[in-house]
Amino acid sequence: MSTDLFQAPDYFQLDDLLTEEHKLVRDAARDWVKREVSPIIEESCQKAEFASHLISGLAEIGAFGPYIPVEYGGAGLDQISYGLIMQELERGDSGIRSTASVQSSLVMYPIYKYGNEEQRQKYLPKLASGEMVGCFGLTEPDFGSNPGGMVTNIKDMGDHYLLNGAKLWISNSPFADIAIVWAKNEDGRIKGLIVERGMEGFSTPETHNKWSLRASATGELVFDNVKVPKENLLPNKDGLGAPLGCLDSARYGIAWGTIGAAMDCYDTALRYSKQRIQFGKPIAGFQLQQKKLAEMITEITKAQFITWRLGVLRNEGRATSAQISMCKRNNVDMALKIARDARQMLGGMGITGEYPIMRHMMNLESVVTYEGTHDIHLLITGLDITGENAFV
Ligand SMILES: Cc1cc2nc3c(=O)[nH]c(=O)nc-3n(C[C@H](O)[C@H](O)[C@H](O)COP(=O)(O)OP(=O)(O)OC[C@H]3O[C@@H](n4cnc5c(N)ncnc54)[C@H](O)[C@@H]3O)c2cc1C
Repeated sequence: MSTDLFQAPDYFQLDDLLTEEHKLVRDAARDWVKREVSPIIEESCQKAEFASHLISGLAEIGAFGPYIPVEYGGAGLDQISYGLIMQELERGDSGIRSTASVQSSLVMYPIYKYGNEEQRQKYLPKLASGEMVGCFGLTEPDFGSNPGGMVTNIKDMGDHYLLNGAKLWISNSPFADIAIVWAKNEDGRIKGLIVERGMEGFSTPETHNKWSLRASATGELVFDNVKVPKENLLPNKDGLGAPLGCLDSARYGIAWGTIGAAMDCYDTALRYSKQRIQFGKPIAGFQLQQKKLAEMITEITKAQFITWRLGVLRNEGRATSAQISMCKRNNVDMALKIARDARQMLGGMGITGEYPIMRHMMNLESVVTYEGTHDIHLLITGLDITGENAFV
């Protein structure tokens, strides 16, 4: 892997809108990514291995539960600091950001928001320190965009619940210590449960042969008459709104994260274009290449501002799910287009692991699908502005 020369673009001085704390948190994450992620990430992806030694470092930079209160081991930061950490992690690799997103927004968040005090005390400090890693099981083989149709179910057996069913495409599942699992009870109501590795009948087979997010482990969750103690039910919220609340937090993190991936592609293409000589001059001097670079920095800048504003609204408790959808959809699409253009700007070198662009591009093909697909987020915006539901 060549040296990480990344320089973050800030064309409209967004830094002026950040507090000293925001900048400190971001710079710590940026330095950590340069030091720990960049040197190993290409090999990790080539081998399709999650670099589990990164877990303690992720915990140290506050990437596990950035906005979870300090009393539970979290970093106690605001939403913009949380976003900036995600931006820096995804600048390194979407798979590393995914691991942190799942741990924070899809595991710690539901335990913090929907769990009781005992559950918070038992799990949150260990999740924040990385001593424990979690995953989130919502998607099923036959229910992806339509999770409300899920067939995974629990039966009340008096002193415990009996859990049956299967979840597919679950990030972190192959090595997770616990899983937040969404299942229907006898009344068809969706409930959240904390399922622990080692419970009889619970297995987590890994999904292989991915061309995307290769540095992140993905797998299934299989439940064959798993006895789940009653105290493992999340008591404070149920229904589809409970998992969707977690997704809001994760999608917001993705909106920031994909800016990081886009920045890395832009920065790489800009540097390369100034050095690569064809027809006697740097390719940066050709109008067609300048058009690509100019459009990239314009789109990155627009995304930075819509996302920063979303962070302000979230800090004030005013951001809507529809705003988060719009931002996630816009930013992933923006990053994917930039990755594709940047890859072309590097010519043949663009397809190699010498540069990060192709890896970002392939990663983003997952990011555009998970946490609500590109089309589903458009339908959410459509419903929000028209009042008409075009999902069914
Ligand atoms: C690498 C990876 C990691 C993941 N991690 C997790 C995880 O940790 N936990 C978890 O629970 N899930 C996870 N997912 C699952 C992910 O959220 C789903 O893949 C996603 O929600 C889409 O579901 P699906 O793949 O079943 O596609 P489908 O829902 O079958 O969609 C297929 C296509 O149909 C379109 N479509 C569907 N419904 C409509 C409609 N009403 N109108 C128009 N078009 C429609 C979609 O936009 C899409 O283009 C992960 C996925 C991937 C790829």
